[in-house]
Amino acid sequence: MKIITDERCSSYGQPGHPERPERITMTVERLRSQTELPIVWSKPGPSDEAAMLRAHTADHVARLSEPEDFDADTPYFPKIAEYARASVGAALEALKAARAGEAVFSLMRPPGHHATRDRAMGFCYLNSIAIAVLEARATGSKRVAVYDFDVHHGNGTEDILLNKTGAAFFSIHEFPCYPGTGTANVGNNCFNYPVPPQTPRAAYRRVLSSALEHLQSFKPELVAVSAGFDAYARDPLAQETLEAEDYYWLGQSLRKMGVPVLSLLEGGYSDDLPELILAYLKGIEGK
Ligand SMILES: [Zn+2]
Repeated sequence: MKIITDERCSSYGQPGHPERPERITMTVERLRSQTELPIVWSKPGPSDEAAMLRAHTADHVARLSEPEDFDADTPYFPKIAEYARASVGAALEALKAARAGEAVFSLMRPPGHHATRDRAMGFCYLNSIAIAVLEARATGSKRVAVYDFDVHHGNGTEDILLNKTGAAFFSIHEFPCYPGTGTANVGNNCFNYPVPPQTPRAAYRRVLSSALEHLQSFKPELVAVSAGFDAYARDPLAQETLEAEDYYWLGQSLRKMGVPVLSLLEGGYSDDLPELILAYLKGIEGK
């Protein structure tokens, strides 16, 4: 299992904000202290300007360097543009690894799936997964699918990939919940699976499973996963019911598809995040 991370992603934060550096540092510690899953540690690659500008406007990229908060959830931090670019660089590195047949996970922050073409929101500044998908499309992959199991709708990814040829987006998320979108399918390639709060675990799994079957019918040659762990039963930001075992099952189900898969960390705010990530990685690796 290749894990892409570096120290830049834990060098900023705001006291009391749920999207905190410990999400990464605690997970790194947990992964280093275990021996069941062999890990190759790797660094983000360079963030490619042209790749970013396929997904975002130049104005948006420039705005990241202006010292003013983006919204109540999404503060400006000194060097946030650099940190967001590091997440993008990690996503592009994960794309390379997946294409080379490696099992790979990008363990970075900030997350990206709420960032739209021209707006930072929901703790997200640059949409790493959409950037990676458009890069894959521009460099030879004919059909690329996004599977977004973060408990929040990936509105930014939908905004960027809407009606893009050769790309498809599948999101399973709590509704009503932030950001309030994702109630119906959009365009010809964005498929939304809203799930009510407190849906029992078995029922939630059935929705995850039908979304995955739907994704398979698109016949992707590459799958990019927005891996958020906030549908977990004890996550402080949502009201769903999944357990670590369900994340293992998700990893296993994705591996069984038999196509290259790259996964990027999105949300997940409980102190159990390291266990949830480890369970998912074991599933992906087939351990
Ligand atoms: Zn989330």
